Amino acid sequence: MEPKIQSTSWNPEIIENAILKKWEDEDIYHFAIDDESKPAFVIDTPPPYPSGRPWHIGAAAHYAQIDMIARVARMNGKNVLFPIGIDRNGLPVEIYTEKKYKVRMRQMDRQKFLDLCKVALDDLEAEMIQIMKRMGLSGNFKDYYRTDSDEYRALTQATFIELWKQGLVYPANRPNNYCPDCATTIADAEIVYNEIPTKLVYMKFKVRDKKGEEEKKKNNNDNTDDTLIIVASTRPELLFACQAVIVNPEDDRYKHLQGSHVILPLFNREVSIVPHPSAKPEFGSGAVMVCSYGDQNDVQLFRELGLEEIVALNENGFTTEAAGQQYVGLRVNQARTKIIKDLKNAGLIEKEENITHRTPLCERSKTPIEIIPLHDYYVKQIEFVPQLKELAFKLKFHPDMHRQILLKWLDSINIDWPVSRRRFYGTEIPIWYCNSCKTPNLPPPDGKYYRPWKDKPPFEKCEKCGSVGSGFTGEDRTFDTWMDSSISPLYVTKFGKDKKKMFDYVYPTAIRPQAKDIIRTWLHYSMLRCVQLTGKIPWHEAWIMGFGIDEKGEKMSKSKGNVIDPFPVIQKYGADTFRFWSASEANLGYDFRCSEQRIAGAQKFLSKLWNIGRFLSSFEVIGERQAPPHLAPSDRWILAELARVIKECRRGYSEYNFFVPANAIRDFTWHLFAAHYIEMVKARAYTANINDGNNKNDEDERSKRSALYTLHRCFSTILSLIAPVIPFIVEELWTKMYSSETTIHKQALLRKEEEELEEEEDEDAQMTKYTRAIIDFNSMIWNKKKETISKETGKPLSLKDPIDIPVPPELEQFEQDLKAMHNLTTK
Ligand SMILES: [Zn+2]
Ligand SMILES: [Zn+2]
Repeated sequence: MEPKIQSTSWNPEIIENAILKKWEDEDIYHFAIDDESKPAFVIDTPPPYPSGRPWHIGAAAHYAQIDMIARVARMNGKNVLFPIGIDRNGLPVEIYTEKKYKVRMRQMDRQKFLDLCKVALDDLEAEMIQIMKRMGLSGNFKDYYRTDSDEYRALTQATFIELWKQGLVYPANRPNNYCPDCATTIADAEIVYNEIPTKLVYMKFKVRDKKGEEEKKKNNNDNTDDTLIIVASTRPELLFACQAVIVNPEDDRYKHLQGSHVILPLFNREVSIVPHPSAKPEFGSGAVMVCSYGDQNDVQLFRELGLEEIVALNENGFTTEAAGQQYVGLRVNQARTKIIKDLKNAGLIEKEENITHRTPLCERSKTPIEIIPLHDYYVKQIEFVPQLKELAFKLKFHPDMHRQILLKWLDSINIDWPVSRRRFYGTEIPIWYCNSCKTPNLPPPDGKYYRPWKDKPPFEKCEKCGSVGSGFTGEDRTFDTWMDSSISPLYVTKFGKDKKKMFDYVYPTAIRPQAKDIIRTWLHYSMLRCVQLTGKIPWHEAWIMGFGIDEKGEKMSKSKGNVIDPFPVIQKYGADTFRFWSASEANLGYDFRCSEQRIAGAQKFLSKLWNIGRFLSSFEVIGERQAPPHLAPSDRWILAELARVIKECRRGYSEYNFFVPANAIRDFTWHLFAAHYIEMVKARAYTANINDGNNKNDEDERSKRSALYTLHRCFSTILSLIAPVIPFIVEELWTKMYSSETTIHKQALLRKEEEELEEEEDEDAQMTKYTRAIIDFNSMIWNKKKETISKETGKPLSLKDPIDIPVPPELEQFEQDLKAMHNLTTK
């Protein structure tokens, strides 16, 4: 028989593009909103962030695996919605736009800047969508969404207005994290810590008066007490905002100075020395200055000691009037340099010490953050922590260990979530302030998109003072972008839209796939917001993937030059190769190594699969009904092994850990099915089709049918099981070999019989006990032939040459196949 598959090699570029077109034309991944006969399965897909070129190869791998989740669910009979969105709000977009067009956001017209951002985004977005499609994502590209669309932003605003009405939002003026480079408030969740080298500066403070000596001083009018105390600080530039010096109450060096006053060098202001346990005797000199604000501990101390705040930096990151004429209007670093220099000149520095200091940095710009008093809007989160912790245990995590990251974060939360940002490219805070009484007025949650910095308010009368005609001033700040992305599960389920029809059917969604590093942001904020708005956790499961790292285990970054652009790689090796590499590379939840070499290696399996398919495609397909009632022992053996692999794959798929099926299928297909089984039954499979009623031929015919049935049963099961991982090559082999009418991607992952096979402990399962012996025997023969030099040719025996070795008794039932396979001459 002519092989149904002609091409001797797998050409992904041609075949994959043709299949893509077919899938698109037939719209096979359509989510049927009105088909409630099937359970809905909505994936809360992470909308990727287009912040620069190229798109990270690790991110592309991540999306390839999310697609596998969608395909598994679909093949398990679910009605799957796999939304595709692009996250387009926020700072990285602004920074990218400033760089690309060489402009400064705050120095140009806001609307013009926003228009530029959109153009920059469109380019990046087009590229990402192209890669996602080329990878074979079975997502809903037809209605892909953008978080900066009017519709999306309107939902962000409507949900904020709803929270406001529930009293879950409040304004407050309090010390907050501030990034001088981004010129905006930063939430705790957006801070990373790094050990950074810095100088610990030992400054000489003059002690003004000692406890008990006050009287003496008054009497003598003696102001020349030159006792000094050395205060060590990593933030000498905040000297002018110092309101106290603390020493540890147990520190014997300073016991006699507790309650005394010191004079701030250069600034000649007097502050007191206060005992406090947070001063560590072993750090620096043991005496620490408390400034507004050097760090979070200072914030704590100002509150605790009732100190009066001095605003050291303004909202643009410059020193304020409080720094005095000499130092006003400087950047933090400038102020630092100048103050250190002046201290040195005045002989007020004892020494400087190089240390590394655990420094809080802005996650985006990696700038050390400052803490300054800012007016911000806060969404309540502290009071939700106990509820969220409880819900965290109801959420099924894949892998389970990553629940800890969320719990640890929840335990560390001690302030509410500041959501206002002093940026431009984001969803506007929908507030207008009454010009008469300054009260914030909010529009109704009517699903409209509001831009208070440029739009007229949708009301005329102040709801507080009732003034009409005094006018309103629009808020010009935007939201933290997590305010937008945290409602993705509500947006994709059409929350607040045609609620009855869609929302009730699909919410809570099935699964949130996401990266490990945004558990404390995206995962936490989504849970918080959805619980506040719907009372329910938005998903049943959370799937957490590790990072793509380079060959040496290092994070990929442009500065290191180890970034790999996924698109050329996918074009060169094909989407299936890329997908198979991504699945087989690392266990779920762990970081995985990315290199072109590793990806190229994955291609070998696809070639193997293609070759096996091509070989088998020349044999008649024997279905269940035409199969003989009793199968030959070798056939029963490989089917027992197949059952084991099915079990393994089923376990992997139920955990969405594609590492398990990818490796199980590769090992089985390559190292057992092809290497041993196919070789063992080739002779039977090639038996000519003769059926003349002769008993001997009847027996041969049965034996042949048993082999053909088993070969195809194994191969079609392999295709079905690996279809979610490598959808293109499987589709091609499937339609050519088994069903030209239907796509495999709408078939069940496992046939009914396979499902049953696993239920009952099949008696044939014990056939797997022969596996080791079969492999060992075959390998032994192959080696023997290699070692034996033929007397006729003077070369090692070929695999077809006869050899005189007996089949061991334990493999007696496989004797016929083994003899034919190796041309064993022994009787
Ligand atoms: Zn920053
Ligand atoms: Zn008013």
